[in-house]
Amino acid sequence: MAEPKKFNCEAIRADFPILKQTVNGHPLVYLDNAATTQKPNAVIDAISHYYRSYNSNVHRGAHALADQATEAFEASRTSMAQFINSPKREHIIWTRGTTEGMNIIARAWGEANLKAGDKILVSHLEHHANIVPWQMVAKKVGATVEPIAITPEGEIDIAAFKAQLDSSVKCVSFGQVSNALGTVHPLDELIPLAKAVGSLVIVDGAQAVGHFEIDVQALGCDFYVFSGHKMFGPTGVGVLWGKEALLESMPPFLGGGEMIETVSFSGTTFNVLPYKFEAGTPDIAGVIGLGAAVSYLNSIDRKAAYEHEHALLEYTWEKAANFDGLIRVGQPKVCAGVFSFLLEGTHPSDVGMIIDQQGVAVRTGHHCTQPLMSEFGLPGTVRASFSFYNTKDDVDRLFGALNKAKTFLL
Ligand code: PLP
Repeated sequence: MAEPKKFNCEAIRADFPILKQTVNGHPLVYLDNAATTQKPNAVIDAISHYYRSYNSNVHRGAHALADQATEAFEASRTSMAQFINSPKREHIIWTRGTTEGMNIIARAWGEANLKAGDKILVSHLEHHANIVPWQMVAKKVGATVEPIAITPEGEIDIAAFKAQLDSSVKCVSFGQVSNALGTVHPLDELIPLAKAVGSLVIVDGAQAVGHFEIDVQALGCDFYVFSGHKMFGPTGVGVLWGKEALLESMPPFLGGGEMIETVSFSGTTFNVLPYKFEAGTPDIAGVIGLGAAVSYLNSIDRKAAYEHEHALLEYTWEKAANFDGLIRVGQPKVCAGVFSFLLEGTHPSDVGMIIDQQGVAVRTGHHCTQPLMSEFGLPGTVRASFSFYNTKDDVDRLFGALNKAKTFLL
């Protein structure tokens, strides 16, 4: 792999064509990266090249285009395995995204392994995608889903978590980074605690992969799930990574073509990993585009990119502290990419609408974290979320727009 280029924000911005446009008559300030990141030319071109030049189904074809498509599709798997330090490429299962990955684990592993009386722990900070699948499986098997308490700063309460752990806890599922507050959880401390009582550990990496390097082996989790569209890849494609023994022991989630070895009315046998979990025609263009996103990220000095992003967050906090009526929501010690806040006396959706008129795109609402919002007694927040292509000027534009929102709304 070539050495990554020195980080240069302006050069990076030039790779993202969408950032050049004006919205509502103003140059776009895109601060909704936690919802989805923008796509560099390299990703857009890879998808377009596939459709223009070698569109074909994978694995089953006996012609040149099918071979080319299969090669590109499987090359993405190899580069993704290296990207997250998977011991084998076969442990990378293509999914539609984090939500599907979590549902596969809850259904295929959960239904086969959980029973009445077992406990599943998830924190109050989790995205609905890391709560609802567990509630569904718990209801089916008679297990319970217990929330892990959080602190007023928006971090997992480690003492409370320790007190919950006993041999009835069979599964703990953490987000690595909170999409609502940006909290980076101390997984190096939390995972060994769960492992010590024999629990399975799942990590929702949706908000982590776009910010820093992931090493699934160093984390020590059993499963890791994420979405391509939050790491500069296309929507509709993501990854379920799992330990081999677990993936081998799990029944398939969907039945159909590709996931079988032989089919007969007297009995069907299943394909090997990863195909056992990849029934039907996959999102071939999406997987190829995601492979291009991995190559793009590999070409960037990611530590410098993270430092740049973090400096923007610090600059934002500084400006927020001097902005009358702004209430920051959550003050985690370690925070990545997200600034959640309220403007006193206003509703988040009104603020979002007014700053959109000035070309500033943020997200407002509960951010698919209703249990967190009810813990904090809030209807929602305004969330500005950053990526490495954002600039100090973007932050200044955000606060300029907020000033206008204040004048208009108060
Ligand atoms: N988990 C977290 C922490 C998220 O932020 C999101 C999306 O915002 C998801 C899960 C769901 O991701 P997707 O909608 O791509 O499946």
